[in-house]
Parts: sequence; C-alpha cells; structure tokens
Amino acid sequence: MSLKIHHLNCGTMCPHGRRLINGDGGLLEAAEMCCHCLLIESGDGLVLVDTGLGSGDVRNPGQLGPGFTALTRPRLQLEETALHQVQALGFKPADVRHIVVTHMDLDHAGGLPDFPDARVHIFAAEHRAATERRTLPEKARYRPAHFAHGPKWAVHETGGERWFGFDSIRALPGSTDEILLVPLIGHTRGHCGVAVNTGAGWLIHCGDAYFFRDEVNPQHPYCTPGLRLFQNIVQIDGRQRRANQARLLELARSHGNEVTLFCAHDPVELARMR
Ligand SMILES: [Zn+2]
Repeated sequence: MSLKIHHLNCGTMCPHGRRLINGDGGLLEAAEMCCHCLLIESGDGLVLVDTGLGSGDVRNPGQLGPGFTALTRPRLQLEETALHQVQALGFKPADVRHIVVTHMDLDHAGGLPDFPDARVHIFAAEHRAATERRTLPEKARYRPAHFAHGPKWAVHETGGERWFGFDSIRALPGSTDEILLVPLIGHTRGHCGVAVNTGAGWLIHCGDAYFFRDEVNPQHPYCTPGLRLFQNIVQIDGRQRRANQARLLELARSHGNEVTLFCAHDPVELARMR
C-alpha cells in the first residue's frame, strides 16, 4: 500500500548572511531556512513528522526566548503553522493521531500544543534531554511552553531492529505502516531521523543531522560555511554528529536509488520533494 505524504513548511527563518547560509545571493541579503515537516495519511489517521513553529509561538514570540528570535529572525505567520495547513487540507486537528519528532528543539516542537490529542512518539534519550533541560544551552533550545500541556508521550527505546545498517524503532508498533525512528545522535542527546516506507521506496527525514543538501551529495559533499559553523555551535556531541552525518552520506552513496534523504531546514530540498 502506498502512503499519501504532504511536504509542509511549518516555519520560515530569515537570518542575516544569505550567501554564507544558502550558498547563493548576497552577503547582506536575508537567508531562507524552512521547517520541513511531513503530514502522512496513514491507515491509523494522520501522522505528523515534526511540527515546526506553532500558533502559540506566532501569538507569543517571547516564549521562544531572545537568542533564537534574534539569530534566526523567524517569519511567524499563522498560515505556516501545521495547524493551519492541516485545516486548509480539510482535516480537523484531532485527525492528527500521531506525531513523530526528530527531536524537541523549539523549531521542531512548537506545534505540539496545537495537537493535544495526538500521541507524541519520541526516542527515550530525547525525551529525557527535553524534560530534564540539564544545561544552559538545553534550557534555551527546549521551551517549556511547547510541552506544558502534557503531551501524550509514547517514549521509545531501541529494540535491536535494523534499517540499512542503522538502529531503528517502529514508531507505530500496532500499524502496518512502516514509520521508524532512526537514532542519529549528536545535534541533541536523542536526535533521530524518521524513515517512512512510502510503498514506492523509502524517505528519511534527517531532521538536523545535516543542514545543507550537498552534505549528503556523494559526488560532491559540501556545506556552506555559515551552516557548518551553526551546526558546530549547537551540537551536543560533535564526534557522534560527524560520524552519523558520514553514515548518511554513505547511505546516499550506496542506497540512493532506494532511499531519499532530506533534512529539516533546506528550502531547495523541500521544493524538490514537493
Ligand atoms: Zn532545527
């Protein structure tokens, strides 16, 4: 059975320095970074993969914290929220039965409060990191407003299943649809990719495991200097992050005809997938 999948942009960030970030345009132009989310019409209702920024963030940008807004300059439009786009497609918010998160950073978890009825599937290490907020950077990146409503967590541990050589966890154990959490630690303590068997090949939403499309281009691996710097600043474990990024590049090299990779924030990849 093939799955109907919508590729949504649930938040646009416009930091300074387009040339250093997007690799084109001028130095003084504003860059463009999207929040690439998936809306999957599954056999068990709608499944959202990541939620971008939410309606609460649009109404009250202060809850995102001063550092993030100053650095990334988010556009904050209601029309870009997953909530608005789900409704524009003719669905009700309660039709979203499941949310699978790559990680809990504010630009991925902002939409959680818009879908309080959904089960939120998360890797155990990330759930721990986001709820404990042990360090100052983690207090800044994980925002309490995004889980103050008490999400219906479904916390998953690895259980020995493999996917193209990676560990993997079936996010929806009861379902015949194959939607997997694939731990790719480094950006955060429990960061994951989300792999989806579309029925016509696999997709993997790599979250923030890489930021620029050519980082997984086997012919010419490359990252713009601005995004390389940014990834180094926000990583929790650089060694693991680089190792996992190398594994994704190898996956693209060896299985590029069976698996399509994309990350959260590259607008060129989003346009390609659409
Ligand atoms: Zn992100």
